[in-house]
Amino acid sequence: MEIKAIRGFNDILPDEIGKWQFVERTAREVFEGFGFSEIRIPILERTELFSRGIGEATDIVEKEMYTFSDRSGNSLTLRPEATASIARAYLEHQVYSFDPVAKYYYIGPMFRYERPQKGRYRQFYQIDAEVFGVENPMVDAEIILMLVHFLKKVGLENLELQINTLGCRKCRPRYREELKAFMKNISFQLCEDCQRRLETNPLRIFDCKVETCKSAITEAPQVTNYTCPDCQGHFDRVKEYLAVAGLSYILNPKMVRGLDYYTRTAFEVVSYQLGSQNAVTGGGRYDNLFQEIGGPDIPGIGFAVGIERLVSLLPAGKEFVSSPHLFVAALGEGPAREAYKLVYELHLQGIQAELDYERRSLKSQMRRADKLKARFALILGEDELKRGTAMLRNMETKSQEEVPLNDLTSTLKQKLAI
Ligand SMILES: [Zn+2]
Ligand SMILES: [Zn+2]
Repeated sequence: MEIKAIRGFNDILPDEIGKWQFVERTAREVFEGFGFSEIRIPILERTELFSRGIGEATDIVEKEMYTFSDRSGNSLTLRPEATASIARAYLEHQVYSFDPVAKYYYIGPMFRYERPQKGRYRQFYQIDAEVFGVENPMVDAEIILMLVHFLKKVGLENLELQINTLGCRKCRPRYREELKAFMKNISFQLCEDCQRRLETNPLRIFDCKVETCKSAITEAPQVTNYTCPDCQGHFDRVKEYLAVAGLSYILNPKMVRGLDYYTRTAFEVVSYQLGSQNAVTGGGRYDNLFQEIGGPDIPGIGFAVGIERLVSLLPAGKEFVSSPHLFVAALGEGPAREAYKLVYELHLQGIQAELDYERRSLKSQMRRADKLKARFALILGEDELKRGTAMLRNMETKSQEEVPLNDLTSTLKQKLAI
C-alpha cells in the first residue's frame, strides 16, 4: 500500500515555494530593520510549559495539543505556538540579567490537532515577533507599526487595525466576575462548551463560533468599562503613539484574544481584500506570562502571523517561481560534453543554467527550454563549436545571434542585468 502523509500535514512543492520564500524574506528584512533578531527554538517542549503558559482552560491545551510520552515517560508536546517557547529560552539563558530588553522574531511550524479545513493544517507555519522587558506603551505602538508595515510590504491591501485593552491583574478579576454574573443569567442560551467555559474561563465565550452564543452575548459587559486608571492610561498612550506615527485604528471592545496570558493591549489586523473580511493576524501584551512559567516579573508583547493565510492573500499576477536564466541545447557528442562543462562554469558564476540529459532532438530540447520558461537558450552545434561560438536565442523575442564562448559569462550577465 502506498504511504500517504498524515491528515492535516501538508507538503509545499517547489511551484508554491516562491511565495513562501518571498513572505519569509520580507519578514526578515522588515523585522531586522526594526531591530529584531532571529531566535531558533525546539519543536518539542515539556507539556507543562504550555499548560501553564497558555492556560489549562483554553481550547489549545484542552483539546488541540499533540502530547505524548517519550521513552523515559516524560510528557512532551509539539509546540502549538511559539511565544511560550521563546519566553522559556529567554529565561533559561538568563538573557534578562545582562540585557533586559530583547526583540526576537521566529519563523517555523506549529502543531494543533484541529479539524483540517481548506487552508488550515495541523502542521501550520507562523512568523512570530516578541519584545520582552519593556512596559512602556511606546513599544506596543512600535510592534504594531512593524506588523502593519510588514503586511503592506508583502502586498496586502485594505487593511484595518483593530485594538483593545484587556486590563491587568488588578482590574481583570472584577471584570471577570461581572462577566460571569452576566453569563450565568443567560447560560440557558449557551452551547455545551460555553457552559463549561462559564466556570473555567468566561472570557473564552467571546471566541465561540456558535451563532446562538454570539447573539446571546451581544449585551455582555465590555472590558473597557472595567479597566483601572493604570490600564486606561497605558491604552491612551498606545493610541497617542499610533496617532503620532499616522497609523489609523478602530477600537474593538469585543476583541479578547484566544489565550489566557494576554493583558492590556490587544490588536488584530483585518483584511478586506477581495470583498471578504479576514482576520490576518493578531497579538498583544502578556505581562503575566513569565511568572506563569516560573520566571521573574517581566513584561512582554508580541504577535503571530500565519504564513498559509498570507500566502493565500498575496496579490495575483506577481511572479514568485524562479525560472532558469539559460537552457543549453547541444547537438552531438562533442557539443554535449562542452555543454556540461559550460553549465558547470555558469553555475559557479551564479547563472541559473539547465541542460538536456537525454540527447534529444533540437526541437524537443527547445520545447523543454520553453517549458522551464528559460529566458535564453544557447544552441551548441559541431560547426559553431569549431569556431568557438554558439547561437544565443532570446526565448521571448525569438531573436538570435552568434556569440563567442570565451566571454559567455559576461555576455549573459549583461543581457540578464545581473
Ligand atoms: Zn488594570
Ligand atoms: Zn458557545
